[in-house]
Amino acid sequence: MAEVLDTQDHPYGFRFDWVGRLKDALGGSAEGGSSRELTSIDVVQAMDCEGLWVANRDEDSSQARFSFAGRQALLTRRLARLWGRHEAGRGTRPFLFVESSLKDPFWMTELESNWLGEQSLDERIELVGEVSAVLCRLQNQIPFDDVSAGVHVGLAQRRVELGNLILVSDDVDFRVRTCEVEGEGAWARTVLLALVPEKPTMADLDRLGFSAAMHTITTGCPPARVAAYGLLDGKVTSLDVDAEWIGLQVGFIMATRKNIERIQRGDTLRLTPGRHCAHCPARQDCPLSRFGLEEF
Ligand code: SF4
Repeated sequence: MAEVLDTQDHPYGFRFDWVGRLKDALGGSAEGGSSRELTSIDVVQAMDCEGLWVANRDEDSSQARFSFAGRQALLTRRLARLWGRHEAGRGTRPFLFVESSLKDPFWMTELESNWLGEQSLDERIELVGEVSAVLCRLQNQIPFDDVSAGVHVGLAQRRVELGNLILVSDDVDFRVRTCEVEGEGAWARTVLLALVPEKPTMADLDRLGFSAAMHTITTGCPPARVAAYGLLDGKVTSLDVDAEWIGLQVGFIMATRKNIERIQRGDTLRLTPGRHCAHCPARQDCPLSRFGLEEF
């Protein structure tokens, strides 16, 4: 992790007017249409297959369908953020923080509070131990107590309005370091870090492209790197950001906006089967589904 967070020698700098053109292109792409809010999930699904995006809109996306492991991962992320924001730089021991936080229902959603209320004493002890272990690992790997490192929770702006286009992201857990402004541009230094429930993959980094685009247009400079940290194994994977990659992410957002407009006008869905069919809610009825074919 230390290497991933060290961006001092990252070679890319970006002119502010280049970033300004990206921002104008994004805002311009939404002119004339209806107001639309997009998240990284919209972009990933709509770029994979329009049918996948539509099928997921019809699904119940409430927290009620999360598995036990999924609930624990969500809770761990929320506690890691709370701890990073309020306690990590003060030397509070993770175990004490987790134990007392789980007794305090005020920061929890109703579902989280109910889920915890149903746990036995043994399950609660196990949960406290597992979440504390994650926070201990994070404490050793992220320089929370180094003010010069500039560790923050989340993106600088989690909601960005560009005319009719509204971008919303809660994908980034920690933002480390700030860009170095020089003349009419800045050297990229920031790392956007997401905590992911399982082993971090390239798909996690692709999803962070949306947040990287938001970071770019709100701060005037792209991040130096995006990284995903596995809550289960403490492994980290990362990707260095360059101009081409950021341009691609902005292009994905613009294309998603356009595709969703098409879908909402009632145009024929463009079905593009692939590995993503495996988790598509429409896979049983879709004539092009590739679900179950991959292993042959
Ligand atoms: S099953 Fe595959 S091709 Fe069909 S809608 Fe879903 S993702 Fe698209």
